[in-house]
Amino acid sequence: MYRSHNCGELTATHINTEVTLSGWVQKSRDKGFIVWVDLRDRYGITQLVFDEERTSKHLIEQAQNLGREFVIQVKGTVIERASKNQNIPTGDIEILVSDLKILNKSVIPPFTIEDKTDGGEDIRMKYRYLDIRRNPVKNSLIFRSKVSQEVRNYLSKEGFIEVETPYLIKSTPEGARDFVVPSRMNAGEFYALPQSPQTFKQLLMVGGMDKYFQIVKCFRDEDLRADRQPEFTQIDCEMAFVEQEDILNVFEGLTRHLLQEVNGVSIDKFPRMLYDDAMRLYGNDKPDIRFGMEFGELNTVTQHKEFGVFNNAELVVGIAVPGGNSYTRKEIDKLIDWVKRPQVGALGMIYSRCNDDGTFKSSVDKFYDQDDLAKWAEVTGAKAGDLVCVLSGDKNKVRAQLSALRMELAERLGLRDPKVFAPLWVIDFPLLELDEETGHYHAMHHPFTSPKPGQLELLDTNPGDVKANAYDLVLNGNEIGGGSIRIHDKETQATMFKHLGFSEEEAKAQFGFLMDAFQYGAPPHGGLAFGLDRLVAILGGQETIRDFIAFPKNNSGRDVMIDAPARIDDDQLTELSLKLNLKS
Ligand code: ASP
Repeated sequence: MYRSHNCGELTATHINTEVTLSGWVQKSRDKGFIVWVDLRDRYGITQLVFDEERTSKHLIEQAQNLGREFVIQVKGTVIERASKNQNIPTGDIEILVSDLKILNKSVIPPFTIEDKTDGGEDIRMKYRYLDIRRNPVKNSLIFRSKVSQEVRNYLSKEGFIEVETPYLIKSTPEGARDFVVPSRMNAGEFYALPQSPQTFKQLLMVGGMDKYFQIVKCFRDEDLRADRQPEFTQIDCEMAFVEQEDILNVFEGLTRHLLQEVNGVSIDKFPRMLYDDAMRLYGNDKPDIRFGMEFGELNTVTQHKEFGVFNNAELVVGIAVPGGNSYTRKEIDKLIDWVKRPQVGALGMIYSRCNDDGTFKSSVDKFYDQDDLAKWAEVTGAKAGDLVCVLSGDKNKVRAQLSALRMELAERLGLRDPKVFAPLWVIDFPLLELDEETGHYHAMHHPFTSPKPGQLELLDTNPGDVKANAYDLVLNGNEIGGGSIRIHDKETQATMFKHLGFSEEEAKAQFGFLMDAFQYGAPPHGGLAFGLDRLVAILGGQETIRDFIAFPKNNSGRDVMIDAPARIDDDQLTELSLKLNLKS
């Protein structure tokens, strides 16, 4: 028996008990005649004491030779500590060791296994197994496990069946590039790894499974932004015989359950917002509604003077920054520089100070009088003491720029409290999105999403105006999930493919199996998927997902620990009928 107890459970109630513990040496303190060792495992830390007077000299010598991260087993008696440590559950006791066995030695770890470590991100990723011994990572993984368990509990109770779908499949269009796997047995042919189990879960509905879920890996070969992973996990769900309302209710219930069980937060009905309103009021389809600072559109109150910049703009839009009138000229100049950074891309920023005496002072006083500026304040909801920041230009661009400014200012003002949870359904997304570069429309969600009833005809005349039965769940400014009611008849699906630029042959080659299935009594169905990594991170009060993933990849998609991706040898290439064509 390696252990009778773990390192986190012994307290004063165990005094005089004989115990056996196993774990890692966190650190030791050596006073010559007495040595203390902190023994650590997943559950906590227990102090061991080796005392020349009470045990043996030999044991002390053994203890003195222990290094950090040695794996040891000890036998001993639980005794009361002379100086107690109120910060840990085992702080009232220590183990007077009578026997010590080294189970395995350790070389000196490349960084300290402490909550605040001296190891940088790269080195911690290379030695991730050591990183996982640290509380912040360990606790994040335990937290993730709890969230997954609660997802399973809730959905199983609601009658969902967990079904696994294959990983070696054919392309699913979720808007990213596929990772592909060469087939040895079918030379020259490739599987694609699923960007999501989308088509399979729809086929499960045709198969009568009715309520499906899966906690599943998805693979998307995208350029990695800071907080993206090429493989990530979804809570993937689909239901048959449902309308949008049914789906929103079930998954609002799931999210409420998680917030309650995991965070102890109870939230009543989630608000809903139309996509068009989200864009108009927040410039963003995933607005953070923990704070206000809603956009005020200023075209009508600005475009009648001699100020060409505003007159020529498609949209003039502003926000009120609470207390912003206290900013110095220099601070405002810095803010202007901030919006002009290439990442944001604004050409400039106009502002108006709302003075305490009810007057205004703007950077365009030459063009706008006090009455004009009072209207700016009214439209943006600015009060005395606030600062109105105004951007102008192309509608879509300027909305994105002001949204970035709104989030940045809220961050600086401490309005994005990770302990506050503000979920929001954004509904009625457009069906199609115009790709500015190619001039083609593509599916905003995916090609299986159904248009709103009665809007199919609009596809021919005003494709950009067609709205979809598509919805996203947003939490604290992050999209944590999205889905749609699907097309479930062959004709509509064929029309949709046509509008997305697929020829009949292409549609058949790629999605013939789905269209075929739709001929055999496909029920009305719909679903959604939550991004588990992000959901867990947000519930855990963090915005980066990496610590909640046991073995994440870095920003270039590499696993630096196992050193993947890697070359394969020539024999393997030959077996796969592949030849490399590298430039260098
Ligand atoms: N497959 C979709 C996605 O990954 C989710 C859904 O429509 O259910 O975003």
